[in-house]
Amino acid sequence: MKIKENYSLQELNTFKIDVKSKYFIEIENESDLKEIVKEYKSKGEKILLLGGGSNILFTKDFDGLVVHLITKGIDIVSQDDDSVLIDCKAGEEWDEVVQFAVNNEYYGIENLSLIPGTIGAAPIQNIGAYGAELKDVFYSLDGFYTADLVEKSFSLGESEFGYRDSIFKSELKDKFIITSVKLRLSKEKNFKLNYRDLADLNKLRKNITIKKVRDHIIKVRESKLPNPKVIGNAGSFYKNPEISAKQLTNLIDQNPDLPYFKSPDRKIKLPAGWLIEQCGWKGKREGDVASYHRQALIIINYGNATSQSILNFTQEIKDSVISKFGIELETEVNFY
Ligand code: FAD
Ligand code: NAP
Repeated sequence: MKIKENYSLQELNTFKIDVKSKYFIEIENESDLKEIVKEYKSKGEKILLLGGGSNILFTKDFDGLVVHLITKGIDIVSQDDDSVLIDCKAGEEWDEVVQFAVNNEYYGIENLSLIPGTIGAAPIQNIGAYGAELKDVFYSLDGFYTADLVEKSFSLGESEFGYRDSIFKSELKDKFIITSVKLRLSKEKNFKLNYRDLADLNKLRKNITIKKVRDHIIKVRESKLPNPKVIGNAGSFYKNPEISAKQLTNLIDQNPDLPYFKSPDRKIKLPAGWLIEQCGWKGKREGDVASYHRQALIIINYGNATSQSILNFTQEIKDSVISKFGIELETEVNFY
């Protein structure tokens, strides 16, 4: 284990913000992880767990220890005729887990293809895309509290998953380290294809395969979303807001074209990208910060954007959505 000091995080966050951490370490196994957390906690240092850095905006240098978790492994714990239970180390790339599932025809996460980051971070915001969410296949996770190193397993119910949310993003934010995640995947086909961008798959009818779903989603995402390896970004900057039926009626009076989606819990979700676009932000650039020209909800760094310029730009977006629609957007990206 080698601690580095005054370490640049620019290549470790997909927004490509040029900040440094006081201390930095890469961790490949769980026993080292506990040891290092114990040591630096006892020194009174702050600790930040970093996976792929794809849902983070660093607003300043990190005054503490950044732990880059790269523990790897996907194991089958048990299986029967209908399903399989897999256990994945937290530092495993999320998309490697999807690839593993697709190769073996284990169903349930194919719609989550190509989401950047690690599986350890996937429960934090209950990652979701194209009508699928982590919680649909989540079985449990293991980890420990940073304060006292006490280990705990969280079941589905205990994880309090919500829309791009969980107990790990709220009450336990920066207080609990996830070391592994168990998923229960199905051996039976049950595709979710109701998003418009997946309509072409429906035409395949009986010929749909899990591989075709993954390949199609990868193709759509590559054509629509900025590749963080090429253009700095952290995906959706804001969450899609959820409103009541009464609010919807009032908004539709003023905006007859307003798109909306009803969720099973009777809340109504509005696409934040559309609201931002209606305020004239889509494709707009100020210095090196911009709203992406294919999806206004994604904020991009053309190269030398500072976190302050991103904060100013996104605050302007937020203000204009409040003034046009009376809706306050909530940030999805984690600030440090
Ligand atoms: P990081 O950014 O490293 O960390 C995020 C947060 O989780 C931080 O608070 C960090 O401290 C914490 N954390 C990380 N690992 C652990 C751990 N082991 N234990 C405890 N805390 C931890 N998200 C979606 O939901 N759906 C999408 O479709 C989607 N598409 C995206 C597309 C692009 C181009 C980009 C750039 C991002 C996208 N995202 C999407 C957001 C992002 O990929 C996910 O939120 C992902 O789960 C973040 O993983 P990460 O490893 O990069 O987390
Ligand atoms: P899209 O298909 O253009 O849709 C725009 C928004 O409308 C999405 O946010 C989506 O909500 C919602 N939506 C569309 N069809 C829907 C349906 N049939 N039922 C319910 N909601 C519907 O979105 P996109 O930008 O191309 O992204 C595709 C998927 O990848 C989306 O699920 C999106 O969440 C996900 N994604 C997430 C991030 C991130 O960082 N969080 C980044 C890129 C893409 P949902 O967001 O709830 O799905």
